[in-house]
Amino acid sequence: MRCLRDFLQTAQQSGVAIGHFNISDLVLVKAVFAAARELNVPVLVGLSEGEREFVGTRQIAAFVRSLREEFDFPIFLNADHTHSLAKGIEAAKAGFDSIVFDLSALPIEENVRQTKQAVEAMKAVNPSVLVEGEIGDIGTGSEIHESSPDLSKGLSTPEEAKQFVESTRVDILAPAVGNMHGMLRSMVGGETKKRLDIERIAGIKRAARAFLTLHGGSGTDDEDLRKAIAAGINIVHINTELRVAWRHGLEHGLAKQPDEVVPYKILPSVVDSVKQVVGSRLQLFNGRHVAHGT
Ligand SMILES: [Zn+2]
Repeated sequence: MRCLRDFLQTAQQSGVAIGHFNISDLVLVKAVFAAARELNVPVLVGLSEGEREFVGTRQIAAFVRSLREEFDFPIFLNADHTHSLAKGIEAAKAGFDSIVFDLSALPIEENVRQTKQAVEAMKAVNPSVLVEGEIGDIGTGSEIHESSPDLSKGLSTPEEAKQFVESTRVDILAPAVGNMHGMLRSMVGGETKKRLDIERIAGIKRAARAFLTLHGGSGTDDEDLRKAIAAGINIVHINTELRVAWRHGLEHGLAKQPDEVVPYKILPSVVDSVKQVVGSRLQLFNGRHVAHGT
């Protein structure tokens, strides 16, 4: 099996992006894996510290590895938003393919200093692990927000991106380019969409010369996502859209069979609901025709 870095290079050359989907239970893994296999495209599943705490760091690593091996399929595992070196080392030791080391809440000098140390420490555990660094402010919480935070002052610049990548030696950079974690209520129904600063992405790509991740992709305008990928985004994160679909699928499954208690008879509704969102996003990220909007 080729490694994640190879798949990122191929994606970059082909002008497509790898979809990253957060999971916090087996149902979500099943849905992501099924959608990726149907389209035959590589995929990343990610777990934040909270999601890892719930599922188990070593347990999810074993599970994803078993899927990759049994089906000989490029499904990779990312330790999303890791805020301490101890949690990063834990994920590297468990066999995660990439680690998002996120000290973006700290002043930039301190972020650079600690991220540089973390890159060295995590690569000492596993030289092939990819490390992603974070700059700028894109808010927190992949959930439904009642109001939009003012993130305009935390946008990343090409100069800052270049300096950060060169000083820390991260493999992947996550900039702030109009993206935001979570969704506004109006985005769940599709009345409003997130918009991205495409020029800024292109400028950052030229300056930083690293793989780029777009966090907080849920609720983003489809055309902006296409342009962002053309401008140099290599990985797109989707979490909140999956969580919304997970809840809707569960409510539907329970309502459809009010007396059912067998989990594997109720939960396929959740798999279907999540799989639809993942499939639609993967088609868009991989430049395939999208049959219906999200
Ligand atoms: Zn994120």
